Parts: sequence; C-alpha cells; structure tokens
Amino acid sequence: PPPPSNSSQTDTGLGAGTDLGIHQRKANATFVMLARNSDIDGAVRSMREAEDRFNKKFGYPWVFLNEEPFTDEFKKRISVLTDAPVHFGQIPASHWYQPSWIDEDRAAASRNAMVSENVIYGGSVSYRNMCRFNSGFFFKHDLLQPFRYYWRVEPDVHFHCDVDFDPFLFMQDQQKIYGFTITMYEYERTITTLWDAVKDFMKDYPQYVSPGNAMNFLSDNGGSRYNLCHFWSNFEIADMDFWRGEAYSAFFDYLDKRGGFYYERWGDAPVHSIAAALFARSDQIHFFNEIGYEHNPYTHCPQGDETWKRGKCSCDQGRSFGEFFSSFVLGFKWVLDELGRG
Ligand code: GDP
Ligand code: MN
Repeated sequence: PPPPSNSSQTDTGLGAGTDLGIHQRKANATFVMLARNSDIDGAVRSMREAEDRFNKKFGYPWVFLNEEPFTDEFKKRISVLTDAPVHFGQIPASHWYQPSWIDEDRAAASRNAMVSENVIYGGSVSYRNMCRFNSGFFFKHDLLQPFRYYWRVEPDVHFHCDVDFDPFLFMQDQQKIYGFTITMYEYERTITTLWDAVKDFMKDYPQYVSPGNAMNFLSDNGGSRYNLCHFWSNFEIADMDFWRGEAYSAFFDYLDKRGGFYYERWGDAPVHSIAAALFARSDQIHFFNEIGYEHNPYTHCPQGDETWKRGKCSCDQGRSFGEFFSSFVLGFKWVLDELGRG
C-alpha cells in the first residue's frame, strides 16, 4: 500500500552539512528491543549495525525487555557493543501473560482453527502475548518512563545506510508522532473483527478521531471497510506520549476488552497503524525514506540516487519493497491493459 497521501517524507538535505562529530542537541529518546535470551546472536547483529550506521555518533541509550530475566551472557554480549547506557528490564507478568478474564476454551478453539488453516503463528500464545505487549504495554515499562521517543529494533534486522541526521530530533522538531519505513497488508484471518471494534470505538469516542487524519490510508471507501494496510511495526520511530495519551489509552483498553489479541491474533502493527492514522493528523506520520532497513523477507532501500549514495547504502534499490510493490502493480496494470487491447 502507498503511504498516507498527506504523510511527510524526508529525502534530501537532512544529512548534508551535519557535523558528524558534535551533536549537542539531543532528543529525549532511546532504542528499545524486545528479545528472548535465545535471540542473543540476532540481537547483537542488529545492535551492531544500528551502532555502526547511526548511534556511535549519537550515543542514544538502549533498553532491552524480556518477560524472563536476561542472562549474564546476554547482558555481557550486548553491553560490549556501545559506550551509551544500556538497560535490561524484566516485563511485569501482568503486562505480558494472557489475562485470566480471557476465556481459554474460546482462545484455544481459535488457535486450533488457525493452525488447521496454516495461519502464521496461529497456534502461538507467546506470539499473542508479544503482540498485546507491543500494542499496549511496552511504553508503560519503568525503564521507558524517562523517555518520550523510541526507535524499535528487532533481532536480525539490517540497517543498510548511514543515518547522519538525528531522526528523534526530526520527530520532535516537526511534531511527528509516528515514523515508518515499510507498509504492508495484514492477513485478514488474524483480524477478522478488528475493524468492527474500531468502528464501534469511533462511534463511542468521536472526540478522539483527529481532523486531517489518514483514514484514506486505512480504507478505500471512507471507513466502512479496512483495506488491511499498515505500517510494518518491527521498525518504528515514534512518540510514546501518543501511546500514553488519552485517545490511545482508551483505544487500547477498548480493543483489549474485546479479547481479540487472544480470540483472534491481532497484531501490534495494525493496532498501532490504525491508531496513528485516526488519532493524529496525516502530516504527523512520517516515511523515513533515507533509513535503509531490512527485516526478512522485505527491504526498504532509499529511493533517489543522491540519498542512496549519501547513505553509502548496502541495499539494492531495485529490490526495495516499495519499488517491488509498485512495479508489481504497474506490471499487473500493464497485463490488464494488454488484455483490454486484445
Ligand atoms: P515476527 O517479526 O512477526 O516474525 O515476530 P518476531 O519473532 O520477530 O517477534 C517480534 C519481536 O518480539 C522480536 O523482537 C522478538 O525478539 C520478540 N519476541 C517474540 N516472542 C517473544 C517472547 O516470547 N518473549 C520475548 N521476550 N520476546 C519475544
Ligand atoms: Mn521480527
């Protein structure tokens, strides 16, 4: 899906002329990674690239979260990678595990049905815990309280380009609330009733729907049907004050009460995306074109030769997901045109 029509895009100039040595102004921001102890090798690889491509010049802290205590080995191998502060936190059980008010028989029946339909992660309870945690709880963790902006990083992702400007300061100065690199379609089977819940919420709380919102990113018919578009949330640079605010708090609680994180398999990506698109103005959502990013199986490679060169990017522009997607659509249209002609 294309980005919201009115969303902004950084492309030129931002990195040029930046003094790489001295960064006196800093935002109130941190990296955050949710990981298991077994994710250590991938966590190290991701952090190493984020440090090399950006953070060794900026020195933003890192916060690692896990529902289990991190091992000494994990802490040792992560801490060696940076001079910046690194914090390791355990997630409170009440923020992670399936709540007792969820009807486990109903949840289990849904998981079994999804397994038989080969829905990805369809049978996994821990994946559902993770999605609910990322939707409604990570920004409530004690270690994140001091911070406003975060950059979400996952194990085994890649940062393909030098980032010579400060995306956090950009967010702050431009009053952005949500930054992304890749957009995607959600599997409908995992969110069967999510849009009904969203429509009910909008009816009950019309005051939270922002003027100038990006409903046209989510729906091709003014809101009656969700087109499944979302920002791929394994990369996010965003403002936790937005998640902590009245609108999103009410929204998350409303969704949580429906039980869809367990009775279906609602992902944090559609939940975050729908909220950002509806409760903020579309110009508060930002496409970070110059941040080359890869999470298997998709890559965003900066478009525009100048941007790609300035970033010393290691990705192939021809294989960027956006490009792939538009060439697919254009190719498809070409086939239709040919058929029409014939
Ligand atoms: P995918 O990207 O949707 O395939 O999901 P991932 O397996 O990459 O999980 C998303 C993020 O949550 C990654 O940062 C994982 O390390 C983390 N994660 C997933 N499941 C768990 C879990 O059970 N415990 C912890 N601590 N982290 C998890
Ligand atoms: Mn992942």
